[in-house]
Amino acid sequence: CVSGIILLVAHTFQSAPAKQKATTDMASQMKTTRSVAVIGGGITGLAAAHHIRELDDSCNVVVYESSDSLGGVLQTMSVDGYLIERSADMFTTRDSSAIDLCQRLGFEEQLIGTNKQHRRPLIVRDGQLYPMPTGWSMLVPGSIGSVMKSPLLGFGGRIRVLLERFVKSRQSTEDESLADFARRRFGKQGYQRIIQPLIGGIYTADPEKLSMKATLEVYRELERKHGSLWRSRKRRQPRDVSSDKSSGARYDMFLTPEAGMQSLVKCIADSLPEGSIRLNSPVQSLESIAGNRWKVCSGDSVMEYDGVIVTLGASAAAEVMKTFDSEMSGLLGSIPLAGAAILAVGIDRSQIKHPLDAFGIIVPQMEDRPLIAISLSSVKFAGRAPDGKVLLRVFVGGATQPHVLEWDDETIKQRAWEQVCELLEVTGEPELMELFRWDGKMPQYHLRHVELVDQIQNLSDRHSSFELAGNAYRGVGIPACVESGETAAQRIFDSF
Ligand SMILES: Cc1cc2nc3c(=O)[nH]c(=O)nc-3n(C[C@H](O)[C@H](O)[C@H](O)COP(=O)(O)OP(=O)(O)OC[C@H]3O[C@@H](n4cnc5c(N)ncnc54)[C@H](O)[C@@H]3O)c2cc1C
Repeated sequence: CVSGIILLVAHTFQSAPAKQKATTDMASQMKTTRSVAVIGGGITGLAAAHHIRELDDSCNVVVYESSDSLGGVLQTMSVDGYLIERSADMFTTRDSSAIDLCQRLGFEEQLIGTNKQHRRPLIVRDGQLYPMPTGWSMLVPGSIGSVMKSPLLGFGGRIRVLLERFVKSRQSTEDESLADFARRRFGKQGYQRIIQPLIGGIYTADPEKLSMKATLEVYRELERKHGSLWRSRKRRQPRDVSSDKSSGARYDMFLTPEAGMQSLVKCIADSLPEGSIRLNSPVQSLESIAGNRWKVCSGDSVMEYDGVIVTLGASAAAEVMKTFDSEMSGLLGSIPLAGAAILAVGIDRSQIKHPLDAFGIIVPQMEDRPLIAISLSSVKFAGRAPDGKVLLRVFVGGATQPHVLEWDDETIKQRAWEQVCELLEVTGEPELMELFRWDGKMPQYHLRHVELVDQIQNLSDRHSSFELAGNAYRGVGIPACVESGETAAQRIFDSF
């Protein structure tokens, strides 16, 4: 911490024992109020702060947020009747942490699911759009018929996908990349034409580097257990098998706040006591002091706390940690980051020739287009566009096309718009275009990520009443962030 600053001390408060009851054991009368600083006001930080208060409603929690608003990347805009998410537009209930939090907040009623129709992505092949084979869910294929009929694959490619059930299973738990796993199980075409665009679109990652162990371990477990992913599908209970016409991600498990992600952020923030949030308060450094306590330095203010939870992205966390643990800071700084940009487009339905009978369009890398995906937001969720209008969100950049993010805003808008016009057969001009850039906001879980995180955890464990949480470690999705924040809160509580 810099010298010459005002020292504000949030002392551990101990109420005096009642003098008139001198015979009572003093210790039992003393109530200890703890104080915890949460660094970062994104969903992870808010979930952590909320959970600390659930565990101990007398705890003094202070959330430090560097910007002038809460939510981190979760931001919602309302423009001319469009409801636009600037980043995440849903969370899954597959991992229950986010929905559990919503239930505890009484926010469940505010959530809506995806529309029941058109639950599938279209995939680009040679400039044409084709549906993903029916029933294909993530890395588990659907029916034999749907694969055999799919124009996405050539004849040899289809046969190779069907032969997956006879490919010897790999029993080793050694990590491997998504690309290696998918090619090994489904062959080159199945990987390039279906799995790469589907999973690459979700993680905005380079599949040659993406760690299966850190992201999709459940599919390796299915392989080990059933010998094949096709067979794992057959052996699961009938209710687990997709019986409808959907494909792609588990759209039946997607939820979103009707009024946008920002309303969830506000709900969590409102649950915290007044004075818990410090906006425009970037934390520069932390210092461990006597009595297992912490000094948090933000601008001219220095406060002391009994515990600290750092919920920043990897590079911001590395920066804050530099002075008190350079080794941990170095490891945090080594987590690779990618960026992405989203172009939100509002347009009249009559300008689009395509039937819009899908939730989105995903683009294989081999198509060589400056485009990762187009999300048909107003097809996916109700209330995203005025009647007769359509809201699209066009994703560009990611780990495989970093050069696109070097273009200026106008170039990105123009090139992305050209793609929309070509693929969806659009005429005329859009009535709304907004570009959101998310440079370096996507942590990349490369091979050995799990080991790297274990190493970071070991270093973090050396500091008492100190926790790291957020999307850099054990999951990037909102539920994983909530779980990570809540786990950190529990560990801090247990350390007191
Ligand atoms: C474009 C995009 C689309 C996504 N889509 C989805 C999706 O559809 N579904 C899903 O589940 N997940 C999605 N994700 C992932 C998910 O939204 C994020 O992983 C999650 O919201 C991250 O939350 P966080 O609180 O960990 O980090 P952040 O949201 O990054 O919050 C960190 C906060 O810390 C603040 N901060 C930074 N430095 C300091 C400092 N020194 N002192 C104090 N404060 C500081 C920042 O201003 C920020 O508010 C998406 C992410 C992106 C970028």
